[in-house]
Amino acid sequence: MKKKLLGLSLSELQTVVQDLSLPRFTAGQIAKWLYVKRVSSIDAMTDLSKQARQALSESYETGWTYPCESVRSKDGTVKYLFKVSCDVGTKSVESAIEAVVIPDSDRKTLCISSQAGCKMGCKFCMTGRGGWHGNLDRAQILSQIMSIPEGPQLTNVVFMGMGEPLDNYDTLSAVLDVMTSPWGFAWSPKRITVSSIGVLPNLKRLLDEHKCHVAISLHNPFPDERLSMMPVQGAYPFLDVLALLRRYDFTGQRRVSFEYTMFEGFNDDKRHADALGRLLRGLECRVNLIRFHKIPDFPYGTSSDRTMEAFRDRLNTAGITATIRASRGEDIFAACGLLAGRHQEADRKTAISDNR
Ligand code: SF4
Repeated sequence: MKKKLLGLSLSELQTVVQDLSLPRFTAGQIAKWLYVKRVSSIDAMTDLSKQARQALSESYETGWTYPCESVRSKDGTVKYLFKVSCDVGTKSVESAIEAVVIPDSDRKTLCISSQAGCKMGCKFCMTGRGGWHGNLDRAQILSQIMSIPEGPQLTNVVFMGMGEPLDNYDTLSAVLDVMTSPWGFAWSPKRITVSSIGVLPNLKRLLDEHKCHVAISLHNPFPDERLSMMPVQGAYPFLDVLALLRRYDFTGQRRVSFEYTMFEGFNDDKRHADALGRLLRGLECRVNLIRFHKIPDFPYGTSSDRTMEAFRDRLNTAGITATIRASRGEDIFAACGLLAGRHQEADRKTAISDNR
């Protein structure tokens, strides 16, 4: 099987060309074709000699993956589905992942996946329910940004799709290097947000090694209640995550925000707002209140607009900046994991009927 070029750093490309006995400057040319001109085939790298292209093609491919389906919402949100194959142990597991483009006045934000499925088991999440089907590799993550029609116009990327990015840290870190390095996309880290439920050791690595924004999925200020929805609370209690965050500076370019999905009758009353305000006091941050998209067989519904507004106002009065995030793409199953979940269900049904 051929190795993938997409996602390799400049120094890794230098090793590739050295191993193929090609001139050292070829690495810079390849990086330019991959990350600036964004070509999807080695043949298109026309300033490489024919011999160089041939030598590269014998062992490498670019590694682009294209979406196999897209759905457009009436509000302009577009969801793309990619079929991927992930190495899990000695097996190759076929799966589906999603990326969502969210246009908003002069911004075009892409929400991308870092894993096929997820191990973290958050009870309110369709992706979590479907289990883990493997880590995406660098090329599969970058393809979500590069192979969609909106790729060249994207203003921001958020790692908030399927999977826990910090559970695939080495790959995430290499992708962030491609996105922010001068030999890569040369993006400012301010255009990138990594969302996590708080996988502590890798959160520390992310904060030490990268300058992008961080969004932490909190969803409940009370440890026992959070644990009932999010098993990660047992391994990495939120208070420890907060203690780590307080050691970093979020008053300058880098921001930290907290995601708080509101479930009716579970985490949306005054007691929760006050506890959340106390918990975050003194930290330069923002709270994003998220409207819950109801999923099957889940005991809680969506908090009303009035409840969400009262919650926001209570936080703001306590000195915590809180906003209600606008719901986008509801008519196309924009909630995390729903399109891919539907596909996996369809694939499963096909597999079942094929086997009858
Ligand atoms: Fe995984 Fe995020 Fe879903 Fe939790 S919410 S199961 S971390 S994808």
